[in-house]
Amino acid sequence: MSIILYGKPVAESIINDLSERTKTLLDKGIQPAISILRAGSRSDDIAYEKRVASLCERINIKVNIIEMPEDVSQQKLESELARANEDPDVHGILVFRPLPSQIDENRICSLISPQKDIDCMNSENLKKLFMGDSSGIAPCTPEAVIEILKYYDYQLEGKNAVIVNRSMVIGKPLAMLFLNENSTVTICHSRTVNLNEITKSADIIVSGVGRAKYFGDEYVSENSTVIDVGINFAEGRMCGDLDFDTVHNRVEAITPVPGGVGTVTSAILLKHLLISAENSI
Ligand code: NAP
Repeated sequence: MSIILYGKPVAESIINDLSERTKTLLDKGIQPAISILRAGSRSDDIAYEKRVASLCERINIKVNIIEMPEDVSQQKLESELARANEDPDVHGILVFRPLPSQIDENRICSLISPQKDIDCMNSENLKKLFMGDSSGIAPCTPEAVIEILKYYDYQLEGKNAVIVNRSMVIGKPLAMLFLNENSTVTICHSRTVNLNEITKSADIIVSGVGRAKYFGDEYVSENSTVIDVGINFAEGRMCGDLDFDTVHNRVEAITPVPGGVGTVTSAILLKHLLISAENSI
């Protein structure tokens, strides 16, 4: 039987720790606060926003939701961002991406204050991650992957980690985090040849291709630990990149979708917010 690496206990353990740290900040007169900037009403953005807002309510973090229409202008978005940047009572900012096509997303990322950039959108924080400077903030999803493996006592040093994704949101920063743990890393993508031979020989497979149930048992071995980052929908249901029903008894361990990485990502976002609030003292 494979081990199912559920995200909920990992998230709970993070949130319990954050709850204590929030109390300490409140005792010092600081109310941690997050500003969420959302252009449009994409269902996945709203689902994530609700999850974050409900966690914030649980541990007494203030949430400001700045909702803008999908056809919002660059100027309006920039002025809302400037307001959040300048507000001393706001400690962290989340801007939902992808932004609508009329918006210059790179410029928006560059304008987020690096100190309030709790999902590593600003290149200052990315640079720190790639330079091995731990004073920066890593992107939440890659950090959630490492957090899950550590929570379940998985030894990362010397392990072969194969990441199937080369985006700046997942694959590239995650490679840096694995290197920090002394893992050996391979990054794969849509042009990789003989992908299944590479994934089969890995100790850890992280998949983020964004294709529903794309990987079957020809991509895994009984020694694989699989972290499925993909969020897809098939037949009206959320699923990962792995064909869970086919694969889950053929591997050593696997995260489910839903209930895996996504559950931990929102807890990591709040962990970054608390770090930012603590640094503001
Ligand atoms: P993305 O920018 O589209 O990246 C997808 C990656 O998968 C690319 O590197 C692409 O290769 C690779 N790929 C696509 N098809 C492939 C194939 N057949 N074989 C091998 N590689 C293939 O997407 P993203 O923003 O990184 O997100 C990826 C997935 O993660 C999505 O399902 C998204 O919803 C999910 N996600 C989950 C969380 C979470 O918290 N769980 C957070 C963010 C995103 P190329 O570079 O060659 O095109």
